Amino acid sequence: MPTSFAKAESLGADLARAPRGLIIGGKSVQAVSGKTFATVNPATGKEICQVAEGGAEDVDLAVKAARQALVDPAWANMSAVDRSLLLNRLADLIERDAAELAVLECIDNGKPATLTQAVEIEGSIKTFRYFAGWPTKFGGETLPVSPRSGAKILNYTVREPVGVCGLIVPWNYPMSMAAWKVAPALAAGCTVILKPAEQTPLTALRLAELALEAGVPEGVFNVITGFGEAGAALVDHPGVDKVAFTGSTAVGKAIVRGSTVNLKKVSLELGGKSPQIVLPDADLDAAAASIAAGIFFNQGQTCTAGSRLYAHSSIHDDLLARIADQAAQLTIGNGLDPSVNFGPLVSQEQWDQVSSYVEIGKNEGADIMIGGGRPADLSEGYFFQPTIMTNAGCDMRIVREEIFGPVLSALSWDDADDLVAQANDSDFGLSAGIWTNDIKQGHRLASQVKAGTVWVNCFNLVDNATPFGGFKQSGWGREHGRQAMELYSEIKSVWVNLS
Ligand code: NAD
Repeated sequence: MPTSFAKAESLGADLARAPRGLIIGGKSVQAVSGKTFATVNPATGKEICQVAEGGAEDVDLAVKAARQALVDPAWANMSAVDRSLLLNRLADLIERDAAELAVLECIDNGKPATLTQAVEIEGSIKTFRYFAGWPTKFGGETLPVSPRSGAKILNYTVREPVGVCGLIVPWNYPMSMAAWKVAPALAAGCTVILKPAEQTPLTALRLAELALEAGVPEGVFNVITGFGEAGAALVDHPGVDKVAFTGSTAVGKAIVRGSTVNLKKVSLELGGKSPQIVLPDADLDAAAASIAAGIFFNQGQTCTAGSRLYAHSSIHDDLLARIADQAAQLTIGNGLDPSVNFGPLVSQEQWDQVSSYVEIGKNEGADIMIGGGRPADLSEGYFFQPTIMTNAGCDMRIVREEIFGPVLSALSWDDADDLVAQANDSDFGLSAGIWTNDIKQGHRLASQVKAGTVWVNCFNLVDNATPFGGFKQSGWGREHGRQAMELYSEIKSVWVNLS
């Protein structure tokens, strides 16, 4: 066992002792039904522990706790400075337990612990610190209204918390996706019910425990572990004012339909099929390194994964050879080994999905340049090789659908006029990468590509300061920045007659 993550063994044994409970009203409780489910280590396929399987009755209890906490003076009257301090204290505690959280995420999700600590846990600390800055700065304004009567009016706006928020997150970045929602929601004064993915419930539960330790009042931060039914119960519940969802486009559509019960506010971060556009004048080494990272980081289970490559025909073969070289340098294995930077997929279901897309691609006429299946030396766990499929065509499913695994579909282009149309020929619009040394071309393409984030000569940079979200079927609304604070607040316009 590597010393840096030596805690893993005792952590696993501790977790296995008793089923992990839901967190409702500040207490760890079992589901009303008494049901539990297994969470599994994707590197071994073995159970880590049992977790409470929350259902509609548990959601109802969590909503009651969250509604009560919303109006409790301990939370409702907390000053902006104190809310800010609280979020910073939570960030301190995540920092204190960073190695333990990285191990938890590694055994629950499969992602390499070293990378998880450096990227996801560090990122979550930054998220809480960033949003800790907002309570003292997020307010309304006075506005120069001109009533017909000529009355002297003072008009001002105020921001109020939207209320009880159901936060439904996926398994690919469990801790960050939770932080991206919990931090702005608490900064805005809301109370929350977090529903982690059934594959990865452990860091969400730990995050809520740390929040309680930081002093977040009981009932402000609740966690319901369980399956899609628990998420649907949150969406259906009339006591939930807002749902913030990150996950698949199919479930996003179901959430929109379900939310009509009380027309709750909905924000959605959904799937993607992001193009990487490479012009003939690009720095090929830099592009290859970043394109490889853009599709192979987190085993390709990233919503912004650059999964469609559009390489100019003059550099296509050279670029692909360099991307393949990058892939060959990855160390694949159990993420508890600090030298590993490519872990397993999250589940057998995900392995089957990725594998079936490789078959689909082959049947559609694409070729496997590298990878395509299980690494020969790893017989257990859900490992899948970094894979490049060449000779892909615009109409192939491997170019149109989200595979959500380490599979790059490569296309070659010659006609610059058709390039933007091809890149935009997608149901998704989450992100895009552009590689060129011609700055004018870079800006021109950035303006033409339909995507919420465009990276020019870089890829997958995300920062709490700048909005993140999708065009088209990649979602509604933007996380991060002021936009996230707006998602979790209502604006009220107040007219005061001074005449
Ligand atoms: P998923 O949609 O299957 O599940 C996401 C969450 O929704 C889980 O917690 C799940 O239990 C819950 N859920 C399932 N059915 C539900 C229902 N009917 N009502 C309410 N909740 C329900 O997604 P996944 O497989 O966990 O994650 C992968 C997807 O997430 C990919 O499509 C990926 O692109 C997307 N994603 C998007 C972003 C982004 O920011 N745009 C980030 C990460 C992941």
